[in-house]
Amino acid sequence: MSPRVRIIGAGLAGSEAAWQCARRGVEVELFEMRPVWSTPAHQTADFAELVCSNSLKSDSENTAPWLLKEEMRRAASLLLQIARECAVPAGHALAVDRQSFAAKVTETVSREPRITVRREEVTSIEEANEQRVTIVATGPLTSDALAAEIARLSQTGDESDDEPESERPRAHTPHLYFYDSISPIVEADSIDMSRVYLAARYDKGSADYINCPMAREDYDRFYDALLASQSVEERDWEKMNYFESCLPIEEIARRGRDTLRFGPMKPVGLKDPRTGRMPYAVVQLRQENLRADSYNLVGFQNHLKFGEQARVLRLIPGLENARFLRYGQIHRNTYINGPALLRETLQMKAHPRVLFAGQICGVEGYVESIATGLIAGIHAAALVRGHELVSPPRASAFGSLTHYVTQADPKNFQPANITFDLLPALEKKIRDRKERHRLQCKLALQQFDEWLERAGMVLAAGKP
Ligand SMILES: Cc1cc2nc3c(=O)[nH]c(=O)nc-3n(C[C@H](O)[C@H](O)[C@H](O)COP(=O)(O)OP(=O)(O)OC[C@H]3O[C@@H](n4cnc5c(N)ncnc54)[C@H](O)[C@@H]3O)c2cc1C
Repeated sequence: MSPRVRIIGAGLAGSEAAWQCARRGVEVELFEMRPVWSTPAHQTADFAELVCSNSLKSDSENTAPWLLKEEMRRAASLLLQIARECAVPAGHALAVDRQSFAAKVTETVSREPRITVRREEVTSIEEANEQRVTIVATGPLTSDALAAEIARLSQTGDESDDEPESERPRAHTPHLYFYDSISPIVEADSIDMSRVYLAARYDKGSADYINCPMAREDYDRFYDALLASQSVEERDWEKMNYFESCLPIEEIARRGRDTLRFGPMKPVGLKDPRTGRMPYAVVQLRQENLRADSYNLVGFQNHLKFGEQARVLRLIPGLENARFLRYGQIHRNTYINGPALLRETLQMKAHPRVLFAGQICGVEGYVESIATGLIAGIHAAALVRGHELVSPPRASAFGSLTHYVTQADPKNFQPANITFDLLPALEKKIRDRKERHRLQCKLALQQFDEWLERAGMVLAAGKP
């Protein structure tokens, strides 16, 4: 039988989508351009390579990232299962050994008989092929040729908009670019352990983070050096449109002397056991791999020249002699205007046999990308089998993500992580935040399980 679902991109979303289709008895052709072509951030030919942090966010019960992962677990997400097998200690977060994770995903997906892997760049999308369904999961670093093809499809599909292109505000164009930044990594044995301490914030989970404490004088010296340091291509800097929750440290610093102390250098809940006091500011380092031979500077994405990064970051207590394995950088982020182009099922409004998943559909983050890949896989399998497509319930994390991506205001659309803000408010007002979140999670999981049972019928139909 010829493949019926064509998936472009074997990243986080594409690998999960391929697996979900195959589990439902649907033949898949999975295209991945690496290693023939690579992207500015990927370093291997493996599927599902994590290009920056190794964290899949909080695993603390009744947080929004936990809820999304719990729904993924219930929906039998392959990538989440592999992430758990490759977990490294990270307090209350789920972090993975990135090499083992990507290697295992590659091996499992490639071994699946219903998935045919093609190592080539795709440059066209067959929007009208009645025999096939396409899932575009090419991520924030989609190749230029395919981006042009997506722009073509987006033009014809942008029915909600009859303004001339030149008069539209930037965020309202159906296809747009913006930029993200990544954090530096240092070698573990170059950290001066006599100057730092291990602790988890509020002692939640095990003490897996290395904390570099700063007294007020240390902070002032660091802050002044940071403000005086040179960024890469300063002119472009002015034009860049950063995602608010992923701002470079020097941009945060420009917003005020104390802004960093309320952001990535927040000392709250990180008492230094040697002094019994909370430092003036803290830089946290998180383990990168199982060997524990490298650590990343949490939230320290930046756009400084590499020489400047070495100079300024070595002012952090404990990092005076740090050896950098990777410096912070800036990267392109490609995504479509989901609310203008997509139905709640992630199908294009104008081309229902084309679905989008992962970062390119307008979510932000590893877990969110995997989750939308999972949904797109379920919907694509249902579509080729002629089944009804039923979206995840609005109250669930899955449903809230797809609702946001497809129903947000198209004029001000920005990619989003899963947060309680995306979930619908409870009917009854609950003042206590913890209790409110607990009840939101309970309701979400109840409704999600009911939905899964319906989507599960598709799975049963796929069994040989
Ligand atoms: C530099 C950078 C750092 C990031 N850091 C983080 C982070 O720390 N934490 C976090 O949660 N999220 C981060 N993100 C955001 C996002 O979560 C990741 O990019 C995530 O990998 C997105 O998953 P995806 O499946 O959508 O795309 P990807 O995982 O990038 O997968 C897309 C795949 O498509 C392939 N491809 C592209 N074009 C073509 C084509 N034409 N033909 C065939 N194959 C193609 C690519 O090679 C790639 O393998 C970061 C993004 C970037 C760019």
